[in-house]
Parts: sequence; C-alpha cells; structure tokens
Amino acid sequence: MNAPIMKGKVYLMGAGPGDPDLLTVKAMRVLRASEVVLHDDLVAAEILELIPAWTQVLNVGRRCGQAGMPQEKIHSLLISAAREGHQVVRLKGGDPLLFGRVGEEMEALSRAGIDFEVIPGVTSAMGAAAAARIPLTDRRFASKLVFVSNHAAGNTPATWDDVIAKDATHVVYMPGTNYGEIAAKLSAGGLDGRTPCLIVANATQGEQQIRRTTLRELPLEPRLPAPMLLIVGKVARPLPPFEDPAKPSPRATSEPHEEILHLTDTRVKA
Ligand code: SAH
Repeated sequence: MNAPIMKGKVYLMGAGPGDPDLLTVKAMRVLRASEVVLHDDLVAAEILELIPAWTQVLNVGRRCGQAGMPQEKIHSLLISAAREGHQVVRLKGGDPLLFGRVGEEMEALSRAGIDFEVIPGVTSAMGAAAAARIPLTDRRFASKLVFVSNHAAGNTPATWDDVIAKDATHVVYMPGTNYGEIAAKLSAGGLDGRTPCLIVANATQGEQQIRRTTLRELPLEPRLPAPMLLIVGKVARPLPPFEDPAKPSPRATSEPHEEILHLTDTRVKA
C-alpha cells in the first residue's frame, strides 16, 4: 500500500494517444488524486474529463505554431505547486519521455530538490500501430525500429541519412504537412519508392483516420489533421484478405506475398 502523500510531488505522466482505456492503472489512480494538473494541448478531452472537479487544471501546451507557456514558466509553476505541498501532475500526450521536453523539466525539478516520478504512457507510435494493426518489428521485414522527429529543438533536420535503414520500420513524429519533403528525406536515406507508408491521425480517438500509401505516392496524399504520424516500412503492408475456403482463389497458386503488395488501391478509414 502507498503511504499517504504528505509532501509535494510532481508526476510526469503519460496520457497515452487518446483512448482513456489506454491510460495505465497507475496514471488513473494518481490523476484521480491530483490537486494540480498542468497538461499539454495534445491530451485528449476524454482524459481531461477524468480529472476531479476540485483539481486546479491548466493547459500549458502549444499547438499549430501558437506559442504556449514559456518552458521556464512551466518549471516555476511545477516547483511552486510542489513546494506548497500539492500532488502535481504534469500530463503529456503519449509517453512523457518521448519528444516532450521532459528532460528540461526533470532537470529543473532536480535542481530545485523536488520529488518527482515518471509514469509511462502508451506512445502514439504504439497506439497508431495497434490501430492500424502493424507488427512494427515483423521479423521477416524489420529488425530495427526508428522513432524520428521532424522537428528537433525548433529546427527541421535536413536529412535522415544517419537513421534510415532498409531493414527498419520508421515512425515519423511531428511530420508536419510537407509530405513531399518527408518522402524525399526517406528516399534519400535509401528507401524504395514502393515502401509501404501509413498516415495515422488522431490514433485511438473517435476521429481516427488511417490512410495507406507508398513512399512514392506520399506527396500526393491529402493532409490529415494533427496530431498525426507516419509509419514507413515493409511491415506497413496490408494484411492478406480473408481466404474463404468455400471459394478457392484463382491466384491460390501464386507466391504468398504477391496479392498483398498492391498498396495504392487500398484505403483504410477506421
Ligand atoms: N510524447 C508523445 C509525442 C509528443 S510529440 C508520444 O509519446 O506520443 C507530438 C507528436 O506525436 C505529434 O505531432 C504526432 O506526430 C504524434 N502524436 C501524438 N498523439 C498522436 C495521436 N493520437 N495520433 C497520431 N499521432 C500522434
């Protein structure tokens, strides 16, 4: 059993990709006992609804180019709330340790001598892969998994030559809307134009959308709303269709992969 919390503490908590059922049991327990919550814009409304009515809630996020609260200000709010003896939750979309400035927050808390704990969440790559039923490291196609952000410290990396590999699955976080530029960077890294590619928006949420394409045709795809990510790699090929034993397929004698590699004519909307 946990001892009652007497002194202030900060929980750096992952809210997961959106579906409240994907919150961890621990996240749910701590959230329900929270006194102060500072959350990012990415956190789904259904998750925010789980916060008790008496809790002080503040959106400190930034989105679509709009400036959010300065990072320093977030640090000082976390520190002062914890010093007042509160149980403070810093709630972030997905997993808090991935692409979420948590390093800076942990350093500030550590410097201030504040007790803190990280509560993991389901990162959006895993939520999207589950929603689209993609085996990210299917041993036949991928032995590496690369999570890459299209934004690093405010900049867009010019190339990804250092991380692209043919035997890898690539998940592109924060792809932005310039799909042509993304496709060019992935191709320049050595990926074939036929490499399957999924665009997943609002993974695990009511407005979830999944579009299936290839690297070559990615630039032609309509832009899906944020938050959105890309899964690129052979593992993102469609699953084989149902083989009805009552109706023998005319292609039953062909190679097993042949039918499922025709990607462009398939559209999935979940
Ligand atoms: N810590 C988060 C990532 C923050 S960076 C995590 O672990 O998921 C923000 C990016 O995450 C978005 O630009 C988008 O690429 C991705 N993302 C977050 N939630 C998403 C969702 N529900 N569906 C698709 N992509 C999502």
